[in-house]
Amino acid sequence: MSPDPPGQRPPEDLLRQSEERYRLLVESVKDYAIYMLDPEGHIVTWNEGVQRIKGYAAEEILGRHFSVFYTPEDVAAGRPQRALEAAARDGRFEDETWRVRKDGSRFWADVVVTALRDPEGRLRGFTKVTRDLTERRRNEDQARQLAREQIARAAAEEQVRARDQFLSIASHELRTPLNPLQLQIQLLLRLARAGTLASQPPDRLVAMLETAERSVKQFARLVTQLLDLSRLVAGGLDLRLEEVDLAAVAREAAARYGPELAQAGCELRLAADRPAVGRWDRLRLEQVLTNLLSNAVKYGAGKPVEVAVAAGEGKAVLTVRDQGIGIAAADQARIFDRFERAVSGYEYGGLGLGLYIVRQIVEALGGDVRVDSAPGAGATFTVELPQAGPADGPHAPPAAPAPGPGA
Ligand code: ADP
Repeated sequence: MSPDPPGQRPPEDLLRQSEERYRLLVESVKDYAIYMLDPEGHIVTWNEGVQRIKGYAAEEILGRHFSVFYTPEDVAAGRPQRALEAAARDGRFEDETWRVRKDGSRFWADVVVTALRDPEGRLRGFTKVTRDLTERRRNEDQARQLAREQIARAAAEEQVRARDQFLSIASHELRTPLNPLQLQIQLLLRLARAGTLASQPPDRLVAMLETAERSVKQFARLVTQLLDLSRLVAGGLDLRLEEVDLAAVAREAAARYGPELAQAGCELRLAADRPAVGRWDRLRLEQVLTNLLSNAVKYGAGKPVEVAVAAGEGKAVLTVRDQGIGIAAADQARIFDRFERAVSGYEYGGLGLGLYIVRQIVEALGGDVRVDSAPGAGATFTVELPQAGPADGPHAPPAAPAPGPGA
């Protein structure tokens, strides 16, 4: 039999029927825990979702305070009460937090509390809709974990790739000076075996030994760079601070470098006759000069190289200028980073470590280094060092005593 048309049933019947349908609808919802609270927060209705999500049957939960769903920490922090107050004040309150099931296990929930008021505006209670988001949260956590693992894997692969590339460049670079060295030794050995070594013109012998010496120096420089790199990676430079004259260090380096400069056809212009004394590490300063000079020779062969040292206003300034290939603006910042090069390995050998080490040393001494250059117009490297040495650290000079009252 079909139900009576709406118009033929008494209004209170219709109302009751509609309320009944609504109650059945809410009760049968399984994916959301939907229930009502009285104004104090006691549970007054129940639905299937409360059973499914929170594990309570109707008779177990009706009449209890809704804070049973909260974690002890949240209860201690007054969170249930605050949720009701916020809903009463604003009409609605939403939150995502951990909730507790009957068996004590926790789940991640989205909770919406809505205040119920009668036509006069009096608070009659609250509705509460809780959705279990544990699955969604788990999926999100898994996705995040997966992304983290992928990033870590990519970084590890990149590290292996960079290491392999570095090993191949380093072994190639280390072999380069060994070839001429081996050649000179073979020649000398042949002459010695033939008993003609002593009768060679001295110039020829000197030239052979100079070639050998240059190769050994180049080899030693590469090994020093590699050692410095591993020291820097392992935790920084060990500075031996003492009073050093940068001008004297520059003069000595220029003298040491004389043969190489001459060999490359670079005229040396030195302007370092006034002392520039500071509290620095002599060997490290020698290294800065060696690295800058060897670059000037390598990238500016056949052109003059100028080295200048000046001091004033508490700082010393060293400049090394060449008239070589220059550096494009876009490369000028990165060449001070590890392994960074702005030239091809076929044209110019190198590990890409010289300037990195220069910057590490200069910064450890409290100074800085910069380059001014343009392609084809040479390069000027400027190092500025405070004469007082590094500002902090175990080697800092003792602070000057405070002037006394009569000072
Ligand atoms: P390397 O010379 O072994 O490559 P460096 O760290 O000393 O390593 O230099 C990094 C890069 O900076 C070089 O590869 C080169 O591209 C550029 N560079 C350094 N010095 C000069 C210079 N004087 N003139 C032109 N380019 C330079």
